[in-house]
Parts: sequence; structure tokens; C-alpha cells
Amino acid sequence: MKRVATRGSKKGMCNICGIFCTLTEDHVPPKGSITPQKVGIKSLAQTVDPIDPKIVRLSQNGVKFRSLCPSCNNHRLGRKFDPALNAFSQAVAQIIRNRSHLSLPSRLEVSLQPQRVVRSIIGHLLAAEIREDMSLAPASEPMRDLMRYYFLDTSADLPSEFNVYCWPYRAKHQVIFKGVGILSGDQIVIGDFLKYFPVAFWLTYQAPDRIREVMRDREISVRGNGFDDWSTVVIGTKEKDTFRPNWPESPDDNEVMVINNDVCFVATAP
Ligand SMILES: [Zn+2]
Repeated sequence: MKRVATRGSKKGMCNICGIFCTLTEDHVPPKGSITPQKVGIKSLAQTVDPIDPKIVRLSQNGVKFRSLCPSCNNHRLGRKFDPALNAFSQAVAQIIRNRSHLSLPSRLEVSLQPQRVVRSIIGHLLAAEIREDMSLAPASEPMRDLMRYYFLDTSADLPSEFNVYCWPYRAKHQVIFKGVGILSGDQIVIGDFLKYFPVAFWLTYQAPDRIREVMRDREISVRGNGFDDWSTVVIGTKEKDTFRPNWPESPDDNEVMVINNDVCFVATAP
């Protein structure tokens, strides 16, 4: 069986900025957002296949991909963007952990620095892919190119093609899905998912208006904020307010999910 590739060659072109260098391993999600532990990483098809639920690649130390240059990994993500995602993840974790013994309001506002948090998510999504030949430039495609441009230029605002949604996520397994199409009724939504306890993120690309409407309450409002600005996102504290943990990897009856199995991963404790 084909192994999930997380390592690739030692030298190659950075998945984000394209510079040729000795590549470094990026933890997805970053270490400060979760405690890295021994996990088994499977492609999505392997997790939904009841015949062979075998774990195909073991990592002793969380999910990581050797795909970034030192500047994108350590300087941009590590120093500038990840601390904001880590602080947000920890704030949501605290709410979820406390909900059983506190009578919380049903919705809580959580503060975050949206331009930093979203760049962190986008950077790790870009990192989560080992290309067949890392010495070649990452393939150019409109959604990925726009993600790279936004990530690298910290004076840029989030392009209007993107929307970012989040909700509490209580399951243990981590999910990284890239370029997923969800066909719901007659509309298709293209996007990437990053899910780990305590939060799930969905980055959509050119989402139809109806989806934007339905998802409005869960949106991280990014546009119009400066790089250092703070805003808030509403986190529902009750179980019923949130999506079931295995959405979208097991779609609703009226949905069809289209995936590229090479860039969709689920990591679980072995
Ligand atoms: Zn780079």
C-alpha cells in the first residue's frame, strides 16, 4: 500500500516561497496549538475503507511535513503568525474544557488577531504536501497562488476570493484536507480544512453566496483589519451549536465530497 508522504527529499523548493534550500519540517498544526504526540497518519481513502484501516505512516512527534524553507517555517510562521493561532487555539480549548462544569453562555466571543491567525492556517495548509519532485516549483493554480501571495505579503488584505470559518471541534483525530469540493444541492464549495482539538477551520475559495450566508455566524472577519489588529469570533459553547466532528469527511446524505486523496490526511492516536 502506498505510504502517506510527509518527508520527501532534504533539499528542494519551499512549498510557499519557492526558494531552493535545505527544507525544514513543519508541524501541522503548530506545536503551541496542540501537544505533539505519537500519531498514525492515513490518507482519507484509507480511513474510510473498512477493509484496510491500517495505519500506513507513523510519526513519533505529531504531523509534520518537510516542505518549507527556514524563513517561511521559523520566521514567518514560527515568529509572526503561529503565536496568534496558538493563543486562539488555547482560548477555545479552555472554553471547551470548562463547559461541563461551568454554566457558560451559549455563545462566547473570543479575541484573535485575524490577519495573523489566517496566515498561520494558510501557511500550514500550503506546507501539508510533499510533491513528487521537491526540486521543482510548486504547481501554479489560482487558489494556491493566491494563498502564497497573501501569506508572503503581510501588508496585503485577505483576497475577496477567500472566506475563513471556524467552529469548536471536540474529536481527537486531526484532519488536513486540501482542495476539497463539497457538492450540496446544485452548488459546489471548494476549500481546505484544518481540524484539530479544539477547533476546525474551513478556508473556502469563491464560495457561493448561499454558503456565505449560511456560514456567516462562524466566519472569522479578516478583511479591513491591519496586520496587528484584533477582532473577535463567536464560539458556540453548546454541543448542538456545532458541526458533528466527522463533517465533512463523512458527508451528509445530500452532499457529495470530491477529494484528491494525495492531499487529504487524517491523523489518529495509534
Ligand atoms: Zn519559503
